[in-house]
Amino acid sequence: MKVVLIGVGQAGGKITQALAEYDYEMGFDAVQGALAVNTAEADLQALDIDTLLIGRDRVKGHGVGGDNELGAQIMEEEATEVMNELDGRITSKAEGLVIVAGLGGGTGSGGAPMLARELNRIYDIPVYVLGVLPGRNEGSIYQANAGRSLKTVVREADSTILIDNDAWHATDESVEEGFDTINQNIAQRVGLLLAAGEVIDGVAESVVDSSEVINTLRPGGIASIGYASVAAAEDSADNVNNITSATRNALLAGTSLPNAVDADTALLVIAGDPDRISRKGVERARSWVEDETGSLEVRGGDFPLDTERLAALILLGGVERSHRIDEFLDRAREAHKQANEPSPNPNEAFDNEELDDLF
Ligand code: GDP
Repeated sequence: MKVVLIGVGQAGGKITQALAEYDYEMGFDAVQGALAVNTAEADLQALDIDTLLIGRDRVKGHGVGGDNELGAQIMEEEATEVMNELDGRITSKAEGLVIVAGLGGGTGSGGAPMLARELNRIYDIPVYVLGVLPGRNEGSIYQANAGRSLKTVVREADSTILIDNDAWHATDESVEEGFDTINQNIAQRVGLLLAAGEVIDGVAESVVDSSEVINTLRPGGIASIGYASVAAAEDSADNVNNITSATRNALLAGTSLPNAVDADTALLVIAGDPDRISRKGVERARSWVEDETGSLEVRGGDFPLDTERLAALILLGGVERSHRIDEFLDRAREAHKQANEPSPNPNEAFDNEELDDLF
């Protein structure tokens, strides 16, 4: 599936670059263009992809400091500049636009939903947001920002693929240490998904088509992505269980929104050497996904890859009613409430007779 990526904010820019690099290194050619937009000049200077600084008049290249309302305003005011910059990059080949952002910060949190609205006004192709949710241990401002951003982004985007920052980092790493690992994991999984929808010459008909990715995302709302790989036997007949176990791991342990399994739609892609892919394994895995997700719309296909492993990649559409999202929204609401409560008067702490004021 040919896409143009627009990273907004720091996380958005870094993940966009990781995705563009992965796509280039693998030779997939799904990423047609990549642009990073930010209000913070230093964050853009750290990137190797094309960049656009916005909000110079307002914040002088210093960023919005976690103020996502300002992030949204700046994006609205400078939408024309962003559109102009994108103009030559969004060609007739593009089948989708993907805005990438961390939802807990300021520029991406406010800018992503605003940009989704502006792009949807102009382009007929779907506008998706690839959004990063703050991990549980990130501060309450991140949770509150992400809650408001998520609510708005779901309204404005055709679908929002969510990555929980707690999902894909090694257990011994803090979220910050894990950013590179997480970004690499996002690049690989989303990169494979986009590439899976590409036409590949000379292979079996059971390959995935970009329309299947688009149809899986069609219910809108929130989507998630899961992945797992296993060592494969040489003979496809010996890989029935390998395919089902990769699929189980992808859905039960490898998704970008842990424990979000109920879904409206699903797409199961089995990636690997076509000679090792067992049709029986694929059929079993697919019906297991139907049972587990409760979805009556499970699509599937192969993705030929030159590797000795077999991987299962799952895209779930319409997961917003999951426990994981409820839990996050509770966190965000609580943080938002706290942020808006009047702070206690510090003098009240000294309101007693035992200590006399100095004067
Ligand atoms: P912005 O520049 O104002 O949009 O703010 P950030 O992009 O730094 O957004 C902050 C949120 O993104 C927080 O929840 C961070 O944990 C997360 N974040 C920042 N950098 C990265 C990154 O490189 N990778 C990932 N996965 N998350 C990040």
